[in-house]
Amino acid sequence: MTSVWYHTFGCKANQYDTERMRQELESRGASTSDDPSAATVAVLNTCTVTDQADLSARRLIRKLGRRHPDLRIVVAGCSSALRSEEYRAMQEVAGVVAGQDPVAVAAEVAPEAAMAGRDDEPIGGTLLRANRRGSRGWMKIQDGCDRKCSFCATRLARGASRSRPIGDLEAEALLLSRQHSEIVLTGIHIGHYGLDLPGAESLAHLCRRLLETVPAVRFRFGSIEATEIDDELVELIVSSDGLLAPHLHVPLQSGSDPVLRRMRRWHTREQYRQRVLEIAERVQPLGLGADIIVGFPGESESDHALTRDLVEELPYTYLHVFPFSVRQGTRAAQLPDPVPAAVAAERSRELRELGVSKGSAHAARRVGGQALVAVETGTTGLTGDYLRVRLSGGGESGTLHRVRLAGAAVDLRAAAGATGRAALPVLRASLAQEQPSVA
Ligand code: SF4
Repeated sequence: MTSVWYHTFGCKANQYDTERMRQELESRGASTSDDPSAATVAVLNTCTVTDQADLSARRLIRKLGRRHPDLRIVVAGCSSALRSEEYRAMQEVAGVVAGQDPVAVAAEVAPEAAMAGRDDEPIGGTLLRANRRGSRGWMKIQDGCDRKCSFCATRLARGASRSRPIGDLEAEALLLSRQHSEIVLTGIHIGHYGLDLPGAESLAHLCRRLLETVPAVRFRFGSIEATEIDDELVELIVSSDGLLAPHLHVPLQSGSDPVLRRMRRWHTREQYRQRVLEIAERVQPLGLGADIIVGFPGESESDHALTRDLVEELPYTYLHVFPFSVRQGTRAAQLPDPVPAAVAAERSRELRELGVSKGSAHAARRVGGQALVAVETGTTGLTGDYLRVRLSGGGESGTLHRVRLAGAAVDLRAAAGATGRAALPVLRASLAQEQPSVA
């Protein structure tokens, strides 16, 4: 019997891909193991966002090889798409898939003969039915990216933007809605959803269809570029009664035009600023997050001050701040004027603190307000504007409730870690006092 242990590096799109691999393997009779020592195969879904991400995958492979010499290790994902020969050369690795194709992963995991009970249901290979790893479902609506940011290796590994047909996504969302009350629309560049499809498809059109055909589920966007959020999408968020979450994670990367140009971003500081302010005026309350890279080559003190000023001005509720990390093979790896690590670390610390203080202020403003909460574990839930809520009064995982928010349960400053990701603000609410509607 094939028993598979899965490990995922990187983003939500990768998490989705791992779930597709798991579903494909289980449909062929393999079981899932939570413990590598009890498994016969390890599937590692790798990431290539930084050189460090590649290193982490190689380190885990060596560790697994040392501790579990009989384990068959299969490597897939973005890093293996760019470095398949390097992984093939590792003696611990039994199989390599240059990408995320679940059928190719299944073929590497075990010869067909060892996998009993192949599920021949037509939807089995293409639609995800559940995310086993969490209360929220992820739905990858597109893959790849047509932009050319100079620091990004993901686009090199994933290729051009390809959108999934709306009909497939409606069918997948209906399946996921049986298990999950919230579905996160993920991808590599979701703002370009539909541009490659026939007709005038768009993310707004997809959302309209999903809201019509999949009732009683909340949809949330994964990371989306601010300049690609059109007015139709903003109006849908406003009119959806909370079912399109008022939460936007809009990568900023830098608030300085010279740095944005070296990053090969397509927008200016002002274009980003204007769009975010327009959206924030329409969507209230709004959970607003951003990725910021500090210490990009050539970033001066005044460039950093421009980023800090913009962060202070815009209504962010959390930030993901990362010091620049060289990624071989990208244009940014060739740029001169590296920023000393200590300077980048200090700039990161400053912006993270600012993010935490803006998050605390947002949480404080929300006390007494109403929210649509998706129950995660029975005692915790998530609001549409991305606040975590400690729940009392019971509540089944995977259900939605309209509640009134009470005081803060956790001091955010104490909870913020040293990683680039800020802790989510945490409030309290009682499910025993359900509210009739969201304000
Ligand atoms: S928009 Fe830029 S950073 Fe994002 S996936 Fe595309 S190339 Fe990479």
